[in-house]
Amino acid sequence: MSATATYAFQGKTILITGGAGEIGRATAHRFAADGATVVLLDINETKLTEVAQALKDGGSPVHTFRCDVTNPDQVKQVFAAAAEQTGQIHYVFNNAGYQGAFAKTDEYPEQDFQKVIDINVVGVFHVLKAAAQTLRDGGGGAIVNMASHAGVDGPPNMLAYAASKFAVIGMTQTAAKDLAPYGIRVNALSPSLIGPGFMWTRQTELQAGVGSQYFDADPKVVEQQMINSVPLRRLGKLAEVANGVAFLMSDEASYITGFNLDVTGGQ
Ligand code: NAD
Repeated sequence: MSATATYAFQGKTILITGGAGEIGRATAHRFAADGATVVLLDINETKLTEVAQALKDGGSPVHTFRCDVTNPDQVKQVFAAAAEQTGQIHYVFNNAGYQGAFAKTDEYPEQDFQKVIDINVVGVFHVLKAAAQTLRDGGGGAIVNMASHAGVDGPPNMLAYAASKFAVIGMTQTAAKDLAPYGIRVNALSPSLIGPGFMWTRQTELQAGVGSQYFDADPKVVEQQMINSVPLRRLGKLAEVANGVAFLMSDEASYITGFNLDVTGGQ
């Protein structure tokens, strides 16, 4: 797939959770550039407003909702309001997530484990369920669940995150089977080292701080160690993640469901 490929999303609406975050924002711009109406959900209202303003300044139709994906009633209400405001939702990018603490398994904090599971598993379930009902009632569509390479191969010191992303891939496979009769495709996307950006900086700093045998104590050295583990020997760009989402939502992927697309530079 070429990095410059475009897909026609004119007249279509995509709802993106974690829409104020880096990948959410990049994906919103990608779909807006292809003509889509964008609906952004996030708990961070300040960032949500900023992202929405940038899209509006570019002339794109955008709707925003403050929504905590861990709250099922809120998710339900926001999906209903979004469908009413836009007429129909065609695509859902189930993307909100939290990276969690970095600690060895014997020291992993219980509260943080619960928080990661609440957002990345239970929250993803709430959004997946609301998406299934909304797209079913609209006559079909496509869902992309945000997983991670950590959901394919558990990295050191990320116990909760790995557990949560393995769960996302499992939910994707089951939902793809359950929703196929409604004309809804469900796929997962698994990026690995994406940057520069918040999660990249956070993970190199926190991995350096753990003091494990896998990474140096200097975040700058950790950056290089991580990049050296990628066959393409560079970080993935936010636009390359958005390209993956666009492909999975597009008609070009019309026979693809229950699939996990690795965006890992070959890792
Ligand atoms: P980010 O932190 O920039 O964005 C995440 C967004 O989710 C934030 O805007 C945050 O406010 C929102 N969010 C968190 N909890 C929420 C909740 N309860 N309800 C609603 N919104 C909530 O990070 P990102 O890099 O854009 O990550 C997006 C997704 O991609 C996550 O699921 C992450 O696990 C996944 N991912 C990221 C990378 C990476 O390297 N950046 C790699 C693999 C997977």
